[in-house]
Amino acid sequence: MKTTKISRMVVASVALLSLAAFLDGQQPVPATVATGFNSIREDTLRADLTFVASDALEGRMSLENGDAVAIQWIASEFAKAGLEPAAKGSFLQPVELIEYRGDREHSYVALKRAGSEKQWKFPEALGSYHADVDVTADVIFAGFGITAPELHYDDYQGIDAHGKIVMIFDHEPQETDPNSIFNGTGNTRYATGRVKILNAQEHGAVGVLIVAEPNRKHPSNQERVARIGGSETRAVPIPSQALAEDVLHTPAAIISDTAAKEIFRTAGASLSELQAAIDRDLKPQSRALADTQVTLHYRNISAHAGTTYNVAGLLEGSDPKLKAETILFSGHHDHNGISGTDIWHGADDNGSGTVGVVALAHAFAANAARGKRSLLFVVYAAEERGLLGSFYMAAHPLRPLETTRAVLNFDMIGRNETESDQTKGLIDIPADTTNRLNLIGRSYSPDYDRTVVQENNYVGLDLDYRFDRDYALNIFFRSDQFPFVLHNIPAFWWFTGFHPDYHHTTDTADKINYVKMAKILRLAYLTGFQFANEATPPKFIANPGELASSGLGTALPGRAVSGPAWLRAGQHGP
Ligand SMILES: [Zn+2]
Ligand SMILES: [Zn+2]
Repeated sequence: MKTTKISRMVVASVALLSLAAFLDGQQPVPATVATGFNSIREDTLRADLTFVASDALEGRMSLENGDAVAIQWIASEFAKAGLEPAAKGSFLQPVELIEYRGDREHSYVALKRAGSEKQWKFPEALGSYHADVDVTADVIFAGFGITAPELHYDDYQGIDAHGKIVMIFDHEPQETDPNSIFNGTGNTRYATGRVKILNAQEHGAVGVLIVAEPNRKHPSNQERVARIGGSETRAVPIPSQALAEDVLHTPAAIISDTAAKEIFRTAGASLSELQAAIDRDLKPQSRALADTQVTLHYRNISAHAGTTYNVAGLLEGSDPKLKAETILFSGHHDHNGISGTDIWHGADDNGSGTVGVVALAHAFAANAARGKRSLLFVVYAAEERGLLGSFYMAAHPLRPLETTRAVLNFDMIGRNETESDQTKGLIDIPADTTNRLNLIGRSYSPDYDRTVVQENNYVGLDLDYRFDRDYALNIFFRSDQFPFVLHNIPAFWWFTGFHPDYHHTTDTADKINYVKMAKILRLAYLTGFQFANEATPPKFIANPGELASSGLGTALPGRAVSGPAWLRAGQHGP
């Protein structure tokens, strides 16, 4: 039976073809989104990134000329794409900074006890502030420094921190326990230094001492940074920068294990015992330290004001009602500059995200069909100096945060992930990462992830969530999506992972995997289109640990957090 045989062969080969096409990510996208989708091209990405990461831009250091060129280039591309200026009639949102250099010789943390004084300087005590600091106060220990009403956990219960310097552990309780209410082995929002310092401030503290957990199963933050080398070890250290105007105004110091032990001597128990006790039953172990007075004394060699810019363009939505809502695409344009003849090109970090946001702006603008919600494209300033541009925008939003439905943040989307000193022993890296994309933030919005997974049928990337279970590398709060996570907005960091060129002069445009980078941006384009159109935008899960331990999975709707300081802090109108 020839025909049957032939038709069977035809059916079989068609099935094979579409399967191959499916595996290749060649499944054709719907015609309504095809123009924009097809406009994302490897040769354009390569050309743009070769410029952005070129010697001429001198590593795009915040407040330096090379970064100013990058800012102008992004604004020019947004204008060419036809975006509307999104910052009061301009593409540039000014971000006022103070740049300063700490004086390590004349800055210290001192302990006064029984009439004598002991001082620690860098690296035993690491602290800086954009103005001179002289604070002396009695010390109280406040566990992990966390107030989490929805977890019924409060390190400040039963102590009075007013006028005191609080000493706290880094990170969060039970971090190696997959069943911990603090999001298993993944980080929660409470684990970051900024949130802890804001919480101490809210409780009336005048200074904060942060010490790595004594029973930690990972390097301390200082040890991790030292592992990176590269820009961290250059002859003249990179200056610090801070927002000129910030809700956070309480000075802090990171102190060594040795200094912490000494300060803690009158506590009646060891730091290690108290961490073990908290980890055991999540009951506070906070207490005043008898005869323990600490001074934070910081001086700067130099300090001056400067202005940098977040670059922001808007593509208005097509629906008369829903266009008031926003989908936000972001990256950062700054990197680590130049030192002598060494240039930190920052091709992957974050030339790739900068060029990526620009490519997405062009793609959405080129597509005749528009999404219902409006699209905001932002490339932030001063991420490398502490997420300064994104924290500024979250505090001074260009569009209302209450109706910002999703954030797609791109920071390092151009490389294959490979082992480096920074990550050795801390994260498992699959053998083949040439087609692999890491997504960070699923625990806080499984809805968001469902849309990405569904759209990935057209693209065919390997999606990876390892970093959502990480407690050693702190990935969750190391890029510009994080300030928006603090405002209960579903926000993912799209990230291809670390490699030995990370924060080294060798992070150059020739090493980028442009095939993968284009696929990531096509996936982001399709996902963004869905977010702009879908009837029910992704929900935010305020307490992912509760889901893990309750077995409810993703069925529980997102809820607002009742009122930690960091959530209320800095919430202004748009
Ligand atoms: Zn970056
Ligand atoms: Zn970086």
